[in-house]
Amino acid sequence: MTSDAEEFKKDLDDIAIKFKQNVQLEDRKHRFKTYKQVFVGTEAVDYLIKSEAASSREDAVELGKALQQMNIFEHVLRDHEFEDEYLFYRMVGENERGAFKIDEKTGEKVKWASFLGGDSVSKGNHESPRQPNLPKPDLDALNPKDVHAVRHVWPMDSHNTTLLDHVHPPEWRDPKANNKDGSSTYDLVCIGAGVGGLITAAGAAGVGAKVAMIEENLLGGDCLNVGCVPSKAIIHSANMAHSVKGDIKRLEAAGIFVDPNAVHIDFGKVMERVRKVRAEISHHDSAERYTELGVEVYIGRAVFTSERSVIVNGRTLNFKKAAIATGGYPTLFPMKGLKELHEKSFSTDPTETKPIVMTNETFFNMTKQPKRMGVIGAGVIGMELAQAMQRLGTEVTVFGRSGKVLPKEDEDMAEIVKQQMIKDGVSFSLSVAEYKEIELNGNVLDDNGYPEMKMTVVEKGEDKTETTFEFDALLVAAGRRPNVTGMDLELAKVEYDTKKGLIVNDKLQTTNPRIYGVGDCCSEFKFTHAADFMARIVIRNALFFGKGKMSDLLIPYATFTSPEITSVGLYGKDLDELGIEYRVFEKHFKDNDRAICDDNTEGFIRFRVDAKTDTILGCSVVGEGAGNMIGEVTLAMESGTGLGAVANVIHPYPTTSEVVRQSGDVYNKTKLTNTVKSLLRGIVKIQN
Ligand SMILES: Cc1cc2nc3c(=O)[nH]c(=O)nc-3n(C[C@H](O)[C@H](O)[C@H](O)COP(=O)(O)OP(=O)(O)OC[C@H]3O[C@@H](n4cnc5c(N)ncnc54)[C@H](O)[C@@H]3O)c2cc1C
Repeated sequence: MTSDAEEFKKDLDDIAIKFKQNVQLEDRKHRFKTYKQVFVGTEAVDYLIKSEAASSREDAVELGKALQQMNIFEHVLRDHEFEDEYLFYRMVGENERGAFKIDEKTGEKVKWASFLGGDSVSKGNHESPRQPNLPKPDLDALNPKDVHAVRHVWPMDSHNTTLLDHVHPPEWRDPKANNKDGSSTYDLVCIGAGVGGLITAAGAAGVGAKVAMIEENLLGGDCLNVGCVPSKAIIHSANMAHSVKGDIKRLEAAGIFVDPNAVHIDFGKVMERVRKVRAEISHHDSAERYTELGVEVYIGRAVFTSERSVIVNGRTLNFKKAAIATGGYPTLFPMKGLKELHEKSFSTDPTETKPIVMTNETFFNMTKQPKRMGVIGAGVIGMELAQAMQRLGTEVTVFGRSGKVLPKEDEDMAEIVKQQMIKDGVSFSLSVAEYKEIELNGNVLDDNGYPEMKMTVVEKGEDKTETTFEFDALLVAAGRRPNVTGMDLELAKVEYDTKKGLIVNDKLQTTNPRIYGVGDCCSEFKFTHAADFMARIVIRNALFFGKGKMSDLLIPYATFTSPEITSVGLYGKDLDELGIEYRVFEKHFKDNDRAICDDNTEGFIRFRVDAKTDTILGCSVVGEGAGNMIGEVTLAMESGTGLGAVANVIHPYPTTSEVVRQSGDVYNKTKLTNTVKSLLRGIVKIQN
């Protein structure tokens, strides 16, 4: 902070103290409701002028807004900024909603750097193994609830300490109890602060509910910390690398000549950028921001104690309603040696050589590039990260059992993605009958210090061929389980299935009607935007007797490989199963002018349309930028706009999204019967 800024902050702090002491608090009535111990905007402005803190009413309003931003007070319904009007505001008590611990000696907030010692917080990339080398005494000094956070986030550079300060501040002071017996009571308690919990909590607080949000690990959940955000950041670097190193023919066709051997990829820098991007975004999900939004934030593990209460850090929270948004976790699968090597990868023993056996929870901790990497799982996560690593220069082999990649998508579309990945250099072994064994082969690579492993698989087929693969890193992306155990859900009378998650009805109510489920812990649509929209349903249903239904959601999804692949609505196989007759309309990128200009002609759009009308039942796109196209199709489906009408939506020329409109043209042409066609020809002739 500059000295001017420090001076200003000090002045503001002084004004805040006097403001709290002098503004008149009274119980006041509005529309039959009494608001306890509140002040009025106009009176506060009077005080700020009288005390000479502000020289005009306009200045006083600006000053009031600054105090409100400091969380000194809030509008009683939290829906007004500070104004010179007859509006009621209440003071926010110290530590009322949770707060950073303040160091008694320095008066500063306690942050992660306090535990790491000044020098150990590197400014950039770390050249050390994957686990934190935090100074022992300080690590021991950590509150046990904070140790978990550093076990999964590495290296402790400035980016990761910023991330943790936002999403898991050390020694966070839980909100004050609001009942005399030391418990607290809330309109809504959210368990888990991934997207599902964050949106539910912020939305509910925004409409005036008293809300607690409990997170045991990192606010932001999978998406921010170990999912969407870091994966898209590494994909960005990978695709840039590919365009100058792997896509030489396309570059040369565009008249650009580079020497691919002169292009150097600094993997450490790539991963540092991933951490930087994540840290930059993390303030959106921070404990401090959610506190400012009116949510009482607890950092700790929530366990149910009854149908209407949970316990966290020894405090009982009673609730009128609760939302469980505990997400999921990656699973290992039976293979001799896998569990042991995975556990060893977390070792903090500096004398031990740590195998690089990862799930998405540890993948983004890598600082050194593996030479060869196995990826188990050819679903979305496996395919995205496999392609990214190959494009960054690691030799990748993807393993699967079903013979297919991206099994949810139409096979011919998924094949386009697979063929591009083969061109990139990825190998596939997709007919594994059994993963037999994995073990260290005793060799440690000089370049990165990673120990090599050998993995034996048995392939499908009568001769049951055994093949052994060697690599120095393994990513397991072979499935996820919902987080539903260890919370004493039985005491809350909430039923669950360890594979499918919480049992919820269409209104997202669990078997305890006061408790709702949100996001990955109770949905087969394991996407951030799905968790977001489930949260909106829960706010309506839990707080406003709403009738929002999960089955009303139309959820598109995308896999961010290159080319991307995306879908919305029903696939052909679903329609066949349901016995619904449909027609297919396609438009290929090779016929799209923009795709030709961009030399990006691989891929196509496929509409599945009701056999008798033009109602769109489903749509898939594979091609560059496909993810950005599906929103328009989703809008058409949501608004009941048929494919015939889509033909009338003018798209700027030349854009690849014209394939959406052009599919409408293809549809409309099928409506012209031979009679209509000859009639039209006749009219044209007469006019000539
Ligand atoms: C590698 C990867 C890439 C992805 N990419 C995309 C993408 O591009 N687009 C997309 O839409 N989706 C993507 N996803 C999926 C997306 O991340 C999830 O769908 C989303 O995070 C689900 O949010 P959630 O709130 O349901 O759960 P989570 O994000 O898992 O949050 C649940 C939280 O609950 C906490 N918790 C659990 N139990 C307790 C307890 N008892 N007490 C307190 N806290 C508890 C957990 O610590 C966690 O923070 C990706 C996922 C992965 C793994």
